[in-house]
Amino acid sequence: MLLLGGTAEARALAARLHPEVEVISSLAGRVPEPALPVGEVRIGGFGGPDGLRRWLQDNGVDAVVDATHPFAARMTATAAAVCAELNLPHLLLARPGWPTDGAIVVSSDVEAARTVVEQRFQRVFLTSGRSSIPAFTDVDAWFLIRVVTAPEPEVLPRRHQLLLSRGPYHYDDELRLLREHRIDALVTKNSGGTMTRAKVDAAAALGIPVVMIDRPPLPAGVTTVGTVDDAVAWVSSLTAS
Ligand code: NAP
Repeated sequence: MLLLGGTAEARALAARLHPEVEVISSLAGRVPEPALPVGEVRIGGFGGPDGLRRWLQDNGVDAVVDATHPFAARMTATAAAVCAELNLPHLLLARPGWPTDGAIVVSSDVEAARTVVEQRFQRVFLTSGRSSIPAFTDVDAWFLIRVVTAPEPEVLPRRHQLLLSRGPYHYDDELRLLREHRIDALVTKNSGGTMTRAKVDAAAALGIPVVMIDRPPLPAGVTTVGTVDDAVAWVSSLTAS
């Protein structure tokens, strides 16, 4: 089984299936020293749909579980298209999003940046990931930017502080951070999951507005589950048949 990973859920699924199912976990290779799942791991892109098709055929893969991050839309679309074409059993493990009540929901990083300008937010906690920073380069506000790996210096907004770290994050620490930096808005993707949720809960507790970037749509026609338990059940149903 090929397990497209890069999330806590993918690591949990690998741990549940190993060693009964021969799982190869795949990571994009975006972050240095990634948290590794148990079992076999390969790192790096496949080279688009043609590369993935070849890789699946060369490695005699029987099934694919896509447990990538909800915003990894390109990988998810590629896996859906190639699996449909090869008629390979394919499951999408898409963890539920966070509740959006009270949040300003936007559809992209560019719209999030526009919202910061329109709402005249002045001290923004920017947590929507490295690739979203260019949308904020020219915004005239102060940013606390939390990312796993440092962005190119030229994309950073003029007034900012960079915080290099990776989750999980805890509620009390997030409260302290928001207070200490006198944050007046949080910008986040609707990633879902427990590892990074505390910032959203802390912002809500302090009455700080949350600008939440909505998820890209899921590909049509793919069997989708929301939990690791349901993914294990899907794999079991395949191995039983
Ligand atoms: P993306 O835009 O959908 O993917 C871009 C390209 O990266 C894909 O076309 C593929 O290259 C390669 N790739 C992505 N995931 C891969 C995987 N698991 N194994 C092998 N190649 C992969 O995805 P992304 O937003 O850059 O995310 C990359 C990885 O980081 C994902 O595995 C995701 O789970 C993880 N991640 C993403 C976020 C986020 O906010 N986007 C947050 C945390 C973790 P080829 O076309 O060459 O095959």
